[in-house]
Amino acid sequence: MNKRELPGLYIHVPFCRSKCRYCDFYSITSLDLVPEWLEALEREAVLRKNLFPVFGSLYLGGGTPTALMEHEAGLLMECVRRHFRFAEGAEMSVEANPDDVCREKLCFLLDQGFNRISIGVQSFDDGELRRLGRRHTGRKAEAALGLVMSSGFDNVSVDLMYGLEGQSLTSWARSLRRAVKFEPHHLSCYQLTIEPGTPIGRLAEEGRIVPIDEDSEHSFFLFTSRFLTQKRYIHYEVSNFARKPQFECMHNKKYWNRAPYLGLGPGAHSFKDAVRWSNVKSVSEYCGKLSVGEPPVCSREVLSSEQVRLEKLFLGFRTRAGVDLSALGSMPDPAPILKQLEKTGIVRVRRGKIVPTLKGLLVADSLPLLF
Ligand code: SF4
Repeated sequence: MNKRELPGLYIHVPFCRSKCRYCDFYSITSLDLVPEWLEALEREAVLRKNLFPVFGSLYLGGGTPTALMEHEAGLLMECVRRHFRFAEGAEMSVEANPDDVCREKLCFLLDQGFNRISIGVQSFDDGELRRLGRRHTGRKAEAALGLVMSSGFDNVSVDLMYGLEGQSLTSWARSLRRAVKFEPHHLSCYQLTIEPGTPIGRLAEEGRIVPIDEDSEHSFFLFTSRFLTQKRYIHYEVSNFARKPQFECMHNKKYWNRAPYLGLGPGAHSFKDAVRWSNVKSVSEYCGKLSVGEPPVCSREVLSSEQVRLEKLFLGFRTRAGVDLSALGSMPDPAPILKQLEKTGIVRVRRGKIVPTLKGLLVADSLPLLF
């Protein structure tokens, strides 16, 4: 089997040094539970090691994997190597915070077999970074990127965010320019989602900050795509850009292509044979369940054929690869809808595929509802 079709392995590191004000990913800021979490992870790996014979990718995410001490990350990777096999040339990704990046840490990560690193920069503007509650400054992010680009990773990705409080298109353009100056292999540009329950979410509820309106969302999106396309990046998914096809994130493409994946750690999700399950989020509950040999699963869902059909459409319309016409299923006559979408420049239908245009990517999430 091609390594692109092989399952992916995700490991959630549920620790951060501080909590960003927009973030609703599960993580805690005390590192006291790291040893207990590592023991629990080993137990979960033993429970799951026979689920898939070989993986095409590893993604160490979080949380902040680079918040771990070297010996802790070393134990984690020993556990991974002990219980799981990877195909030759598998993509091995790690997320890193600019504040944690130094030459020694990068050498250590390369020694551990990582070949792709994703740096969470978000912005190079110090005011925006402060309002997001990020630990680093724009200069620190530049210094980190400079080090990473010269460190020997095959693929360096930069995460950036737009639609921030007080952010203009001009300041967004400045952040994009500061990122592409380093010629990273890959960029992820997300629009800020205001999540309820986060400090920024509470400010929005109180009316103390105003989320950007739909017109501004569209302007940021179109500007980003045009700017990066001019810099020769391929806009291959709503929020993702790669300098060449080989730098597209293999692990994330597995999610979008509905390949199977195994997630280990608190809050991690897994997917196999139309069954999706997720782990409990709390680190202590996760450790507690595994200490008595219990799988840390809190929800399990068997997808119906209609759910599978809609999921294929939902994920496919977000990518420039598009959706197979056959994924429309037994819908009576999609031709009039497709004709209308082609006429309005939202999709192109070619060789058995429905491919969203840039305008189509802009409304990708609403397209499945038409079918
Ligand atoms: S470092 Fe990442 S995971 Fe941690 S709080 Fe900030 S955004 Fe969330």
